[in-house]
Amino acid sequence: MNKMTKTIYKNIFWAVATMIAITLIFSVLFETAGTTENLSINQLVTKINSGEVAKITVQGNDLLIDLKDGKKATAKKETDASLSQTLNNYGVTPSVLDQVNLEVQDESGFKFWMSVLIPTLLPLIAVGFVFWLLFRQAKGGVNQAFSFGKSNLKLFGSFKDRVTFNNVAGLKEAKQELMEIVDFLKNPKKYLEIGAKIPRGVLLMGAPGTGKTLLARAVAGESGVPFFYISASEFVEMFVGVGAARTRDAFQTAKAAAPSILFIDEIDAVGRERGAGLGGGHDEREQTLNQILVEMDGFERDAKVIVVAATNRPDILDKALLRPGRFDRQVVLDLPDINDREAILKIHAIGKPLDKNIDLRKVAVRTPGFSGADLANLMNEAAILAARENRRTILQIDLFNAVEKVLLGPERKNRAISLKEKEITAYHEAGHALVTASIKGADPVHKVSIISRGRAGGYTMKLPTEEMHLKTRSQFVGDLATLMGGYTAEQETFGEMSTGASSDLKEATKLARALVTQYGMSDKMGPMTFGESHEMIFLGKEISSEKNYSEQIASEIDKEVKAFIDRAYKAAQKILKSRKKLLEKIAKTLMEKETLEQEEFYALIKDSSFKLIEI
Ligand code: ADP
Ligand code: MG
Ligand code: ZN
Repeated sequence: MNKMTKTIYKNIFWAVATMIAITLIFSVLFETAGTTENLSINQLVTKINSGEVAKITVQGNDLLIDLKDGKKATAKKETDASLSQTLNNYGVTPSVLDQVNLEVQDESGFKFWMSVLIPTLLPLIAVGFVFWLLFRQAKGGVNQAFSFGKSNLKLFGSFKDRVTFNNVAGLKEAKQELMEIVDFLKNPKKYLEIGAKIPRGVLLMGAPGTGKTLLARAVAGESGVPFFYISASEFVEMFVGVGAARTRDAFQTAKAAAPSILFIDEIDAVGRERGAGLGGGHDEREQTLNQILVEMDGFERDAKVIVVAATNRPDILDKALLRPGRFDRQVVLDLPDINDREAILKIHAIGKPLDKNIDLRKVAVRTPGFSGADLANLMNEAAILAARENRRTILQIDLFNAVEKVLLGPERKNRAISLKEKEITAYHEAGHALVTASIKGADPVHKVSIISRGRAGGYTMKLPTEEMHLKTRSQFVGDLATLMGGYTAEQETFGEMSTGASSDLKEATKLARALVTQYGMSDKMGPMTFGESHEMIFLGKEISSEKNYSEQIASEIDKEVKAFIDRAYKAAQKILKSRKKLLEKIAKTLMEKETLEQEEFYALIKDSSFKLIEI
């Protein structure tokens, strides 16, 4: 049962309970004992004259009659006339009337008022109570029955812990850009006087986990202006028109609090290119997006509301969002470089007791391509590993293990493998390691292991010496040869290869194809790209690539891909054939120790005769 149906059931329960309560109260207050007869004045007069009446209570125009035989009756007197007068008119002599106990009850009597108020007020109170319950729920929880058009806008105060720029490592450009925005909000005059327009929107773009949401929260913590937060997915409901209404509401709230910042997280949930989605031209998402565009255009020139949005799919965003006057500022959040990674690790090490010999730099070296979120996760995994061994501090080895755990999955030490399998894996990994260590300019080895992790039987960790943004052809060729190293080592040692090399081969083929068709690194094919890839809008994935070249070109591409692979294979063969002894030494050590760290590995291979080979 979801929350909504639960709420409905709860409210129905309360409504029914209230009704039952009302009925009970009525029956207690107004049920007169025994059967009451309703008499006409004539009948009453007859009864008085025959001496049957003991007492008459007058309540306004109502007469409550107690008969001498214990029965009760009711009657009504004429309005605007007193009872004795009425009775007189009907021929009751005063002497007879004297024998009847007459009691006139004050109309302001408690019972009277209750009899008037309860029937009118109680249902109102009951209905009011039910409404109050409903509204309370609507306010508190996810938007419910009565607040469809309201956005679930959160003011910054509702974030649990305050985040400042100090909690965000790296991302210098992004921080600077946002700092400027905050300055706009605080000193708008300065900018307006010189004729500058205050930017309306800032779009934070970056891979998942690069700290977009974190940065926005930091702005909230730093800016000192009201900061409203909503995730774009909260705009969209299954009811058409709700998204637009919520958008309107969100912008209105932000405008009312100006100067303020409105942060829309994951804007790609509504902002993807129009006309490309499912279900025709006017789906809910489109209407919501249109409303956002309208609202952003609707800001006055000096309206001090700045919209900050975040997305990890800028490529699928509608172009209309990106034009000047809307999200005219675009800030890219890159994956952290080595210095930033170290800084992020430091931030997340706060509150975790690290061994004093820990070198976070070494961890940063091993984590190219990790996002901030990955690094935070890594730090946490390291703490868990330390706790599992009941240690009080986190050691370097915990961090290294955590890197591999995040990269490849948990260690599977207990997986049963035969001795033969272990031997094959050892030679395979030794092959990778030896090839990369032998090639001039190739990446150095950081670790070799034959402990299986996740889906990998073993792994060789090689990393570039410096952070690189560009890669040259010779580096790629070195990578290809290294990838072929495992396969070649198996073949050279055992005379045949195992399935363990299949993912290497797949990757090598993919890389070689990219060299030819994307990077223009094949001499024969020349500086040209081949093929166009297509993305499916609603999957956000590349699912088809269009062939925009002839069959003849296709076969030439295949030939070039093969040439790259062949060359790499030959290079690996040359290295491993000439260093068979060394390969064996590494493999044997691996079988014994299972894991070789960088220093251990180089201590094994480095002697005077070891020379780098150019390929
Ligand atoms: P996204 O870009 O997907 O919105 P988040 O901002 O949610 O990523 O980041 C997830 C987590 O990763 C943050 O809560 C934080 O712990 C960590 N993180 C990401 N980037 C950084 C950074 N630059 N400095 C410190 N921590 C970061
Ligand atoms: Mg986020
Ligand atoms: Zn391999």
